[in-house]
Amino acid sequence: MAVCPVDCFYRTGDGVVLHDKDLCIGCGYCFYACPFGAPQFPQAGAFGLRGKMDKCTFCAGGPETDRSEAEFKKYGRNRLAEGKLPACAEMCSTKALLGGDGDVVADIYRERVLRRGKGSEVWGWGTAYGPGKPGAQPPAKGAKS
Ligand code: SF4
Ligand code: SF4
Repeated sequence: MAVCPVDCFYRTGDGVVLHDKDLCIGCGYCFYACPFGAPQFPQAGAFGLRGKMDKCTFCAGGPETDRSEAEFKKYGRNRLAEGKLPACAEMCSTKALLGGDGDVVADIYRERVLRRGKGSEVWGWGTAYGPGKPGAQPPAKGAKS
């Protein structure tokens, strides 16, 4: 947030960091500063066209009125204003992606680590989908179980 020369970034009441596309001048400072790679230039065109920065909105829209057409056109759906989870968290079949208050997410993560362990031993088909039903198709050859 601090590197932006035109102060594009702001934090919502829910603690979501959002970005105002109307203010952005596309300088790219946030692209280099963010350790998570959140700001990304739009990927239109074969030569990495620059423009106004894009970033994940946590499905929380932008500075326009919640759930307005203007907000939808620039930032997509404001699912948080609809009382829903971010789309990626809701769709994730293994619940690897979680959305919510930091302490609740930390509790879920802690419980997972206690039950399953941590590190490379918890990867694989069996961890994600369970041991499978008798007679079920086995995972593809070479897949980790
Ligand atoms: S690219 Fe846009 S959001 Fe990022 S630092 Fe520059 S003006 Fe701010
Ligand atoms: S679906 Fe996930 S990655 Fe995409 S904007 Fe929503 S929260 Fe961000």
